[in-house]
Amino acid sequence: MKNKKEISKKLIDWYYQNARSLPWRTIGGAHFDPYQVWISEIMLQQTTVKTVEGYFLKWITRFPNLKTLADANIEEVLLYWQGLGYYTRARKIHECAKVLQEKYQGQFPKDRKELLKLPGIGPYSASSILAFAFNQKETVMDGNVIRVLSRLYGIETAVDKNKIFELAEQLTDDEKPADYASAIMDLGATVCSPSNAKCLLCPWQEFCVAKQKGIQDKIPLIQKPEKKIFEGYVHIIKDEKGRFFIQKREEKGLLHGLYEFPWQKEKTFLFESDWKETKKRVSHTFTHFHLTLHLIETTVKTVPLNGAFVSPDDFSKYPFSTLMKKVIHQVLN
Ligand code: SF4
Repeated sequence: MKNKKEISKKLIDWYYQNARSLPWRTIGGAHFDPYQVWISEIMLQQTTVKTVEGYFLKWITRFPNLKTLADANIEEVLLYWQGLGYYTRARKIHECAKVLQEKYQGQFPKDRKELLKLPGIGPYSASSILAFAFNQKETVMDGNVIRVLSRLYGIETAVDKNKIFELAEQLTDDEKPADYASAIMDLGATVCSPSNAKCLLCPWQEFCVAKQKGIQDKIPLIQKPEKKIFEGYVHIIKDEKGRFFIQKREEKGLLHGLYEFPWQKEKTFLFESDWKETKKRVSHTFTHFHLTLHLIETTVKTVPLNGAFVSPDDFSKYPFSTLMKKVIHQVLN
């Protein structure tokens, strides 16, 4: 392998000609606003760039800085997060904004240890903030980086993140860490794609072991655990005015704080009524499992549960998970 400085310089030069224009990005050094870096990084965890772009722009229009976010009501924050999934992230962002306002004079610390004390900021987010917002020599590693480096070094064994992190660290540029981190992500996203890598456009083609061996498509070797499959039953409870019963999910656990039609894994009815089983169902895939919900319906005057009847016209005022939006789609069609 060639001199590491030369490898990283080639990539950065390529980046200056080919960088993606992204709303949260500054090309040529640190971003002017750590807040924007932070929001985009958290949104991008488990979500595609294409999806995040729209969410990010709406978010920054409504919450342009830490203060507006810290002052906002959590339900409104969840509404702006609605559809991105992993709602704990939105709650942590809100909590973190408050802590930064109250204890850090509305400024992001430039120190890794301090950043890691903040709610929702783990090693990956801390590295991203330090690299992208403060141009500090930090190694940022996501799925794109793992794929590119596995191919560059021709690693044919199962992915070992610690080993790849070491390689990533060695290549990180001393003088332009922000641009280097963006560059390697762009290379993975636009050239060294999961299938059909465009090696002829790649600034690293002369160094790349996988290209030399013609094994790009076999690398990286990732062993994914099989997802579990669950079923459940969702209660569609209507009143005589055509409104639907929804409730706020308990404060702890999956999707907490969001609104939902009551559902459970057991096929038992929540209270006595004239329930009808339907053929309607919705399926959703979470990180570790698939869930299929069967819809059961009834019409009542009152409900012995905490919650409220809401007109479909008002559904947009409540934060629902993507799973529940799929239920709404079934109910209204
Ligand atoms: S040469 Fe091909 S496989 Fe190697 S890093 Fe570049 S795009 Fe990826």
